[in-house]
Order: sequence, then structure tokens, then C-alpha cells
Amino acid sequence: MEDSRSQLVAVDRRSINLLFDDECFEDDDPDKTDNGTQTKRISRQKGKAEVIPSLMFQRSLKQMTLSEKPAKRRVKFMNWTKFHKLNVIYSFMDDLEKDFPAICTVSVIGKSVEGRDIKMLKISNSDASNPAIWLDAAIHSREWITTAVVTYLADFIVRNFHKLSKSITDKDWFIVPVLNPDGYVYTHTKDRMWRKNRAKQDGERVGVDLNRNFSYGWGNNGDEGSSDLPNHVFYKGPAPFSEPESCAVRDTILSSQTMFKVYLSFHSYYELILFPWGHKAEPCPDYLRLLEGGTVMARAIYDNSGMIYKVGCTKDLTYFACGTSSDWSYGIAKIPYSYMIELRSKKHRFKVPNDQILETCHEIWHAVESLMEFVDKPQTKF
Ligand SMILES: [Zn+2]
Repeated sequence: MEDSRSQLVAVDRRSINLLFDDECFEDDDPDKTDNGTQTKRISRQKGKAEVIPSLMFQRSLKQMTLSEKPAKRRVKFMNWTKFHKLNVIYSFMDDLEKDFPAICTVSVIGKSVEGRDIKMLKISNSDASNPAIWLDAAIHSREWITTAVVTYLADFIVRNFHKLSKSITDKDWFIVPVLNPDGYVYTHTKDRMWRKNRAKQDGERVGVDLNRNFSYGWGNNGDEGSSDLPNHVFYKGPAPFSEPESCAVRDTILSSQTMFKVYLSFHSYYELILFPWGHKAEPCPDYLRLLEGGTVMARAIYDNSGMIYKVGCTKDLTYFACGTSSDWSYGIAKIPYSYMIELRSKKHRFKVPNDQILETCHEIWHAVESLMEFVDKPQTKF
């Protein structure tokens, strides 16, 4: 009697864990599932973890014996209460496409050094007159908050598409939540502080700083702008666009039929809104307009959360940064509103506490929404 009761309790607990423990929904073996090519196999039953379906609960109790191990299940729900691995991010993108096929398209814009997919989500109402907006995250792999923010923006736009203003819906959104998937996986499995991609040199995976590998101003300003040394954190790579990840950005933008109007590359952790130039000290030709657009974003952030993000050109607020994606997007791709946004947190650096993820997402949603209104207004000639 005593035995059978304890057996029932054991089964009961396991069933509850199976239904409710979020970890049960993620495969913890990153080597097995970190490549997005496997994400299509994920089952898509919705809502199971939100409500206990009593019949199913009873059935699972009945079917499960003590000798059975609960089946390993992968994520079904994206959330912004913690940081997620690559397979979860990629299945979230696939699920959005499946659930909202009229406006969502997932594509693979390139392969990483180690052969992982670089996935992009496009959100569009298919109006041919739309301008394009680019959002990318995790070009520096340890900056996890950036991926959380752009996935939140994607989710919010898609799920609220019918009630959002035209300044949001009359745009084609090109969203790359993990631009450096090899590095991102590496930060989840081996080294939380890894920044670069996983490029090899002389058989060693030294990595290239992808945000020093773009062609505009590549290699300028000596050691401050980037580094020739493969083991350096700012290693620029052997040549401009030597890396497949930076090439994927270049090729997607330059081959697009849609004209890009805004380029937002997300970083962390300095709480800054930066615009070109990074490779020289002179103001860029649209300095005042970019300052104004940046200030619109900073104001929206402050009004939402009270956080103060400084606004200015990269060189003024940080240092010479040469070969950055935002100098390239402005200088070569001619995207007029090109920004690099350094998210939270100056206090916690790359390890943003879980309870600040949603706050950061909210403040950046308000910033992006305000910027979209700003760029649609007839502009003052400076
Ligand atoms: Zn960064």
C-alpha cells in the first residue's frame, strides 16, 4: 500500500514536470539541435502548457509507467523571461511563419563558418511601395539581450499587425536575430564571453570580429579601429568581407528589390544610440538628421522606462571602430538611417538579469515605433 502510493506520487510529479517545466520544452543538447535545419521537426501543438487538459493529464498518468522516461520535448513557446538557445530562436521563427503565412517568410541568407544556417524573418504585407527596415542581432555572440529584443519586436509586430499604424505595417521588415550563430552556440556551450565568429586560422579557431570585417573604412586608424592580430578581440579578418556572416548581410541588402530606409544593428551593453561614422572623426553628411532620429528614439526610451541612452556618432561616444556594419550600410548601401544601438546594461554588462529582458524589449519597441514615425515624416532640409 505504502509502495503503490509513493509510486503514484512519483508518476504524478513527473507528469506535472512534463507539462509545466519550461526546461522540458528545450533540448539541452546543443550539439544535437543547434542547427536550424532540424527545427522543422518540432511539433506545433499550441496552448498545452497554459491549461491542464484534465483528460490528457489522466491519460498521461495512465500511460506512463515507472520504467518510462518522459520523452524529451523541445520548446513550444517563446518567452522573454530568460535567454534562449539557437534551436529555440530558430523554431520560434519557423512557428511565426507557419502561424502567419500571409505576412511572414523565413529564409536562410547564408551559412556560418561552421555551416550553420543564418536565418532571416521577413515581415511584409507585400505592398510593392514599402521601404525596407533591417534589424540584426548577435553579430557579437555574447550580447544575448540583442537577440531577445529583435525576436520580441518580430513577435509584437506580427501578432499585432492588424492594429498597428501604417508607419509599422507599410514596411518590409528584414530581421536576423542571430547573425553569428556559431559564436552564439559557443557562448551557450563553452565560453559565455565569446564575441567573434568561429573562423579558423592555421587550424585554430581564432574568430573574426564581424563588426570590423565590413569594407567601408576597413583597417583604418591602426590599433584603435581594429586589430591585425588573430587572437585580438577586434580582429578585422584577413580581408574585407572575408567572413560568410558579413557577406550574408551585404548580399541580402544589395540584392534586395526593396530600398532600405533604416538599418538597426543591435549590440550591448553601453546604452547608446550610435550612428556613422566610426572610422573617422568628421561628421557624416546627415549628422543632424541622424542625431535627430536618434534623439527621437532616446526620448521614447526615456518616456517608457526612464532609462537614458546617449546619442551620437560612434567615434564621439566610443572610439574609432573601423569596418563596422553601420558605416558600411550608410556609406556603401546608402541606407539613410543607419544606427548601431547599444542596449543595456552598463551595470550588469553582457549578463542582463532575466527580469530586465522584457523591460528592455518594451523600451526598444517604443524607440523603433517612434523612429518609424520619424522617418515617414517629410524631413527638414539641414
Ligand atoms: Zn557588439
